[in-house]
Amino acid sequence: MAISFEIPERVKQEAQMAEAMAQGIMRPVSRQLDENEHERPADFIKMIWPVLRDQQARALDKLKAPPDPDKPKREGPGITYLRMMFQVEALSWGDAGQYLCIPSALLAGSAIEAVGTDEQKERFLRRFAEGKDPVWGAMAMTEPNAGSDTKAIEMTAVHDEAGNEWVLNGEKIFITNGGLALIESDGVCVVWATVDRSAGRAGMKPFVVEANTPGVTVTKPEIKHGIRASDTVSISFQDARIPYDNILGDPEVRTGGSRKGFKGAMATFDASRPLVAASALGVGRAALEFVKKKLKKEGIEIPYDRPRHKQTAVQRDVLTMEAQLKAAYLLTLRATSMLDHGQRNSLEASMAKAKAGKAVTEVTQKAVELLGMMGYSREWLVEKWMRDGKINDIYEGTGQINLLIVARRILDYGSQELN
Ligand SMILES: Cc1cc2nc3c(=O)[nH]c(=O)nc-3n(C[C@H](O)[C@H](O)[C@H](O)COP(=O)(O)OP(=O)(O)OC[C@H]3O[C@@H](n4cnc5c(N)ncnc54)[C@H](O)[C@@H]3O)c2cc1C
Repeated sequence: MAISFEIPERVKQEAQMAEAMAQGIMRPVSRQLDENEHERPADFIKMIWPVLRDQQARALDKLKAPPDPDKPKREGPGITYLRMMFQVEALSWGDAGQYLCIPSALLAGSAIEAVGTDEQKERFLRRFAEGKDPVWGAMAMTEPNAGSDTKAIEMTAVHDEAGNEWVLNGEKIFITNGGLALIESDGVCVVWATVDRSAGRAGMKPFVVEANTPGVTVTKPEIKHGIRASDTVSISFQDARIPYDNILGDPEVRTGGSRKGFKGAMATFDASRPLVAASALGVGRAALEFVKKKLKKEGIEIPYDRPRHKQTAVQRDVLTMEAQLKAAYLLTLRATSMLDHGQRNSLEASMAKAKAGKAVTEVTQKAVELLGMMGYSREWLVEKWMRDGKINDIYEGTGQINLLIVARRILDYGSQELN
């Protein structure tokens, strides 16, 4: 597959608009929201909700409308993911914690899109396409005893035949936008539970839990190291009853990995990991640009025409930071382009996520280091970017887990052989 390094004008313009919004709306309240965890970025949410709502409405309407025979079929690959990549990068350049508060179906939407029926898409996603009040989606996989090892999930879903309902019991932790989805809006949370523990992964199923379901309690808003504007909570399920039709994909436990079941929904990570990488790129760029600006003020610039060994230690550090981000950018572009070409990209998505998570961690740490005591001071945002950037190396598969996925795919090993 050929990757185009020429970014379409439309993508560039949208990214510029997102960056202008980031500069004008996010940056001015970045420190305030960092200091006051659990406060919401109200202006950003208010501004972006109508845009995302109308986008979702168009997507849902397209699903319902019969194909128009007079409309010429689009030639070649789309640019949907490329556009998202550049917008996520720009918004995360503004503030990664605020970016995570975007009112949209996010990972819940990806799972519903991937394995939901048309009826489920309409029933669960329509709320993201109408109304004046913003709505959020969340995805709950992690539990106290199940992080990287997703097959250790203990939460149960039992089919109550009398009421034709699923009864959910268990606890989910560290769920992004869980409170916004289930308490502060009429949103949804896709919750993973097992219908048969003895079946391992084949018994794990995603269920859609709607806001205000009795038996569902948001128990613990986390106090975090970074992305402090982002909502992260624990959710407890005690005999929470949901309609039978809220299961996503095949309710039967089938070993062999049907694409409509566990594997299908896990494939949503192939789409979301490049976007996590894009977010890492945005935070990394914020730190790098800031350092270069400060160095320039001190008369230090990078003579790109001079060989590396003829540069000073500081100049070499900056070159390394740039190279790290460039490598991560190219991997992200590749993973994203593959999505737009409709190709499987599990390997490339994990490569991009692992590299970008590491790059942002190293680049932001180096930025703090190069700026000396002021880098460590709360007067500047660079220490915050160092804290914010790290999350990209943790969620949606840690750096180690994504490297493990890369190794398995390259060596053609299964999870039993390489873990
Ligand atoms: C701010 C935040 C938001 C989050 N949002 C969500 C969310 O919305 N939904 C959700 O479901 N979860 C969410 N999570 C949870 C996140 O996905 C988990 O933290 C992550 O999967 C790692 O799990 P763990 O923390 O239990 O670490 P563990 O799995 O216990 O891992 C601990 C360390 O061991 C390493 N390790 C584990 N297994 C291996 C292995 N086989 N080989 C090599 N190294 C290994 C890991 O890489 C890590 O460094 C969030 C977490 C945070 C911090």
